[in-house]
Amino acid sequence: MAKDPDPNPATELLATGASLDELHLAAESCTACELYREATQVVFGSGSTRAHLMLVGEQPGDVEDREGEPFVGPAGTVLDESLAGAGIPLDDVYLTNVVKHFRWEPRGKRRLHKTPATRHVRACLPWLEAELSIVDPLVIVCLGAIASQALLGRSFRVMRQRGQAIDWGGRTVVATIHPSAVLRASDPEERDRLRAALIEDLSTAARLAAG
Ligand code: SF4
Repeated sequence: MAKDPDPNPATELLATGASLDELHLAAESCTACELYREATQVVFGSGSTRAHLMLVGEQPGDVEDREGEPFVGPAGTVLDESLAGAGIPLDDVYLTNVVKHFRWEPRGKRRLHKTPATRHVRACLPWLEAELSIVDPLVIVCLGAIASQALLGRSFRVMRQRGQAIDWGGRTVVATIHPSAVLRASDPEERDRLRAALIEDLSTAARLAAG
């Protein structure tokens, strides 16, 4: 019989006053869902603990999985350019994902991204809640549908509701597209449109954080 996954230790650790580094270390041994088995390593959040903005993506990609850092692959390049376009300094941002291990499926020699299931998001959410509790950002930016729906509910629609300031238990959340959507755009015009939308929503989040 398959062994039940272990409970996520994040909440308990947080209650003992664990730091972000200690949480990161503990996440390296997390077995609260099965994704750790096929991933290279955990990809925990990264950035300033005094950041005003926390950007939350879906899950690490292939490059992030190998390097152990969030948003260092092609989507990360789009995000960096978009943050610069919105005038947001990188040291005012904490970057993380809802799911901390890379979910993928083989396609020949490549590892193709596979969207995390609801059970993976649920199992991993205590790590994000712990990061939120420690960093305590003024504004959370959800990048893409998985992150948005993890925080705002399954009925949330990014393309319809992106860029709005939403109260989330006393915190402000702004949802926008995931930077990988820019890379997947079918033509240059669509790419420009999506990039502009991402910059616009990041600018909105920065304005809200500035009060
Ligand atoms: S994806 Fe999240 S919950 Fe699942 S094993 Fe990794 S860190 Fe733990």
